[in-house]
Amino acid sequence: MDNLLELKGINKTFKIKGSDDSVVLEDINLQVKEGEFLAVLGPSGSGKSTLLRIIAGLIPSTSGTVSYLGRQIHGVNPGVAMVFQSFALFPWLTVVENVMLGLERKKMSTEMKKEKSMQVLDIVGLDGFENAYPKELSGGMRQRVGIGRALVSEPDILLMDEAFSALDVLTAENLRRDLLELWLEKKIPTKSIVLITHGIEEAVYMADRAVILSSGPATIIKNINIDLPRWRDRKSAEFLAYVDEIYSIMTKKKDRTTPLQVLSKKDIIPAVSAGALTGFLELLEDLNEKTDLYKLADRFVMDMEDFLPLIEASTLLHFTKVTEGDIELTDYGTEFARASVLDRKKLFRRQLLKHVPFVKKMLTILQSKSNKQMNIEFFEELLTRTFGETVAHQQLEWLIGWERYAELIEYDDNREIIYLEENV
Ligand code: ADP
Ligand code: MG
Repeated sequence: MDNLLELKGINKTFKIKGSDDSVVLEDINLQVKEGEFLAVLGPSGSGKSTLLRIIAGLIPSTSGTVSYLGRQIHGVNPGVAMVFQSFALFPWLTVVENVMLGLERKKMSTEMKKEKSMQVLDIVGLDGFENAYPKELSGGMRQRVGIGRALVSEPDILLMDEAFSALDVLTAENLRRDLLELWLEKKIPTKSIVLITHGIEEAVYMADRAVILSSGPATIIKNINIDLPRWRDRKSAEFLAYVDEIYSIMTKKKDRTTPLQVLSKKDIIPAVSAGALTGFLELLEDLNEKTDLYKLADRFVMDMEDFLPLIEASTLLHFTKVTEGDIELTDYGTEFARASVLDRKKLFRRQLLKHVPFVKKMLTILQSKSNKQMNIEFFEELLTRTFGETVAHQQLEWLIGWERYAELIEYDDNREIIYLEENV
């Protein structure tokens, strides 16, 4: 039998005016079979949404092909419908009108569209809310509308882009369970689901198979069949073994370039404050042993994915070491956790200079100026060439936070000027 969906050699490069092209996807090959629930996992910014948009035919790939039922797709993919993280509802339309939008391209009378939409609202648990407006609904209910709008066209493939990420923990869990029930009990005609997520537990809970993307540019680094009976017990050893395995794959870094080479996408720093990092290292020191990453998450009562940036940052600075799903402090990390507030700043400074090339670059530039200062825009533009405007802005904020903590620089908010600390 043909694959329901097949991607061959998909590459995607964004051309950005005034800077280098940005390669986001590299040689993605992927098949989705009928009856399959596939999760695509990757760190944020790795290109997951871009991949999904290409599958849906909303944007073209730079090269490679997308086929649906053995036929190459040009333009919008007729076999799919999409659910977005942001719900993407129209505030001026009622619930049922929003759902009817899912039938926009179908040749069908308005009455018929309305009737189908009402049926779907019943299925997704929104019976009685058809005439409400999105602003009157909770987040969970809004996303039910989003799912209804996708389901109403009876797509063969349901594409979900981090559809549960914007919801609180309990609401997300209810919605996952309800969707899974519709799927497993065949209450919807959907033949396959592709769920894009950065949540490892979500993927292991929901999917039959997980594909793991690396970041910058995204390539498929691993394909894992999740061979667990339904319904799955998140606390079972088998479940945790899958989580552990995926976790260690995702925290394994591609080879880093040596310091002071030109900035590349790999040099993105994790979105973590120096304060949070300090707390994390203190906790590890408290535990005083090699620790399973998932046990650590349990202890913090945090979602494991919230941990990723902390682990990435502490590993980037060589304060921790991750092997096979375990994390431990390095000697530097232990030294840091036990040091006084002032000594910590020195240690942080040393690791920062050693392992974050852009920090060194910033200092060299500041030192080369007679007044030892520079406007923030200058650095932002440097970062923009590699990361694009939005990410560059965020990166610079985190970098400045780290460098201030390390007492390398000061930042004048009003004048938007960065200057070197006196003794640096
Ligand atoms: P994810 O969904 O995994 O968080 P995205 O697919 O949204 O990642 O983005 C991947 C990368 O592609 C990011 O670096 C982002 O800045 C870049 N990107 C996405 N869309 C565009 C675009 N239209 N133009 C330029 N760059 C883009
Ligand atoms: Mg995304």
